[in-house]
Amino acid sequence: MHYPDLLLRNVRTFLHLASGNAGGCDVLIRQGRIAQIGPKLVAPEHARVLDCSERLLAPGLVNAHWHSPMQAAHGTADRLDHKRFMWLNQADTANRSQEEIATSALLGCIQMIRSGTTAVIDHFPEQGFEVSDVAAVVDALERSGMRAVVALRVFDGEYSDIMPEAAQATPALTAAIRDHNPLVPRSLAQSMELLEACITSFDGRAGRIRVFPAPSNPVRCSDAFLLACQEMAERFDTGIHCHLLETRRQATLAQAQYGRSMVAHMAALGTLDSRWSCAHCNWLTEDDIALMAQRGAVAVLNPESNLKIGSGVPPITAFLRAGLTCALGTDGASTNDNLVLQEAMQLAALLHRTSEPDHSQWVSAADVLRMGTTGGAAALREPDLGQIAVGQKADLVLYDLNSAIWTPCNDPLQQFVFGERGANVRSVIIDGRLVMDEGVILTFDEAAVLQNARHLLQDTRERNAGIRLIADAFGPAP
Ligand SMILES: [Zn+2]
Repeated sequence: MHYPDLLLRNVRTFLHLASGNAGGCDVLIRQGRIAQIGPKLVAPEHARVLDCSERLLAPGLVNAHWHSPMQAAHGTADRLDHKRFMWLNQADTANRSQEEIATSALLGCIQMIRSGTTAVIDHFPEQGFEVSDVAAVVDALERSGMRAVVALRVFDGEYSDIMPEAAQATPALTAAIRDHNPLVPRSLAQSMELLEACITSFDGRAGRIRVFPAPSNPVRCSDAFLLACQEMAERFDTGIHCHLLETRRQATLAQAQYGRSMVAHMAALGTLDSRWSCAHCNWLTEDDIALMAQRGAVAVLNPESNLKIGSGVPPITAFLRAGLTCALGTDGASTNDNLVLQEAMQLAALLHRTSEPDHSQWVSAADVLRMGTTGGAAALREPDLGQIAVGQKADLVLYDLNSAIWTPCNDPLQQFVFGERGANVRSVIIDGRLVMDEGVILTFDEAAVLQNARHLLQDTRERNAGIRLIADAFGPAP
């Protein structure tokens, strides 16, 4: 799909600002890509010319781990641990209509577009799903104008990592899980049939929507299931997305189950390579990190979510030392209430500073900007994305430099990572198309989405009262 040429006049990039170049340059966008960069470019006939003399042009950010079904559940998960959060999440997301699926996805797209995120991996959904559910989320993401991967969350084993341990298993909790657990595994054959139907129907939609197999979490999948996902990804040339070692319990279970770490087991199976993007990676050992780096897999860090539910701290300095490609994600809205990727960048840069006396090892603003752009592009398997250069896909964001955060501009990278939170995003271009123009989203009706979303959480909770019994039977948060 191609849109009218866009000519950005007199725009500043990080490089211009860093060098004190007041003049900026022009950027021509044609057929979805950056076609030319230079001074005083000639405007092609019919091109839309934007005056960008007060604007920073930055690459669109990539949110490489999100769950659209959770979007209405912000403000619900303070002081919850992973198990309680997960069961509450089931009650807050299961049994949605297709319209509700679309509303939830678009609600998140509003937040992401408005804060400068242009691409996302949606790890969708939580429970069992049908092709029609996937159609609903694909349609919504296509309508949003964003670039997206719908990473279909499949599993053939129990969610043993969120089942109660012996001391927690009261009769009420055991009965609630027996009667209301929505996380019922499907057979390998059923899941693969469903994945194939979705990939053949939706992968490549509008040139910017991909569909990946996405084992919910390898510790919830059989070896044969992981191998089947790998085979499916190779056959259709997709990526594979998953959660990996978010909690200590997942690491302990994997060790008990395989006699080695989850990462070592996946590598030995032949299911860990550059197709894989793995969310969290909090409990990787040094050997795991080396193995992931060697295999070319991508670690998608979600520091804000990890801190909110206390699930762990990703060893980011060790990742960088090993040369492991890192991307960043927000995770779902109940563990990250605003989807502002700049916050993930800031946390990734700051998390380790109090425990690392050697300042030369500290993660820098430039490191985390790479994670939020080209690292995310690697998770999407989009090599031509994430930089401002001729030939790159045109996913770009214009920030207002005539604002307090940017005045004076001392170091654009530091101010972007540690200062900007999206409030100065004015216009957003995705795949060469103007998706937001001077603060107005052009691709869908934002007010209608907000209207539809007002009762979404309440309605979902009412129909899932049985599932809610499980979350409540765990008792109050510690
Ligand atoms: Zn997640």
